[in-house]
Amino acid sequence: MKISRHRLLKEDGTAYPFVASPNLGGALDARYLVIHFTAGRNAVSSVKWLSNRRAKASAHLVIGRDGAITQLVPFNRIAWHAGRSSWDGLDGLNRYSLGIELDNPGQLVRSGDRWRAWFGVEYDAAEVIEAVHKNGSQLSGWLTYSLVQLEAALDVASLLMEKYQLQDVIGHDDISPGRKLDPGPAFPMREFRARLQGRAEDEDLRFQTRTHLNIRSGPATHYDLLNGSPLPPNTTVVVLNEYGSWRFVDVEDVVNGVMDMQGWVHSNYLRRAE
Ligand SMILES: [Zn+2]
Repeated sequence: MKISRHRLLKEDGTAYPFVASPNLGGALDARYLVIHFTAGRNAVSSVKWLSNRRAKASAHLVIGRDGAITQLVPFNRIAWHAGRSSWDGLDGLNRYSLGIELDNPGQLVRSGDRWRAWFGVEYDAAEVIEAVHKNGSQLSGWLTYSLVQLEAALDVASLLMEKYQLQDVIGHDDISPGRKLDPGPAFPMREFRARLQGRAEDEDLRFQTRTHLNIRSGPATHYDLLNGSPLPPNTTVVVLNEYGSWRFVDVEDVVNGVMDMQGWVHSNYLRRAE
C-alpha cells in the first residue's frame, strides 16, 4: 500500500474504499496515531455510522475483522475520534492525531458459557480473553482481534508513521483514561509498538518456558487449561499482555498439535529467550 494526496492506495494505484465522512475539521498537525475499537456490530455498520452527520464522530480509517480497510477522512484533515483527551502536554488530540478504528464489539459480559456485547450479539468463549482493563479493576471479556485485522493495522500504521513522521502509537484509553476503554486488553499494544519501532524491542517480549507450563483461559489457576496444555520446556512465547504475575502469551510454534495458541501462563516459569 501507499499514500498519495492523503488517500490510501494499493500498490497498483487503485484507491482503498473511501466513504467521505462529513464529520471532519481543518488541517491536521499529525504527531500520533490513536488506536480505537468501534464497539460496533461489524465494520459496515461502523463505516455507515461514522459517515453519518448525527454521529458527530469519525476516524481516518476503519479496519474490519477480515482486514478490509475503509478510509473516511483524508490524512491531512482532522477527524473526530478522540474527543476530550490529553497526552504529553497536548489537549484535544483530534488536532494532533490520525485515528484508526478496529471493528470489535468492545467490553463483553458473561452469558452462560458465552460472552455478550452491549448490542446483544454473543461470542464463543474460544474467541474471548478475560482480562482486567489497565485502567480498571474487574475482569471482563474482550473479543480477540483477528490476525488479518492486526496485520492490516500494522501495515497501514507503519506506512502512516513513516509518511507523516509520527512520534508514537497510543490507545484511546491512554489519552482519555476513565472515559474510554478502547482498544482494550485484547489489543497487543506492546508488541504492536515494538514491531513498528523495529525488531530490537520485539526481542524483549520473547520468552521461553523453563518447565512444563500450564496455559489457561484466564489469569488465575481456577481458569480452564487450554487444549494443548501444558507447554513443553523451551517453548517460545511472545508476551502480549499482563495481569499481576500472569502473562497473556502467543505461542510461536505448533505445540501438542495445536496451532496459534494464545492464553495465560504464570511469569515465574518464563525466562528470556536467547
Ligand atoms: Zn475510541
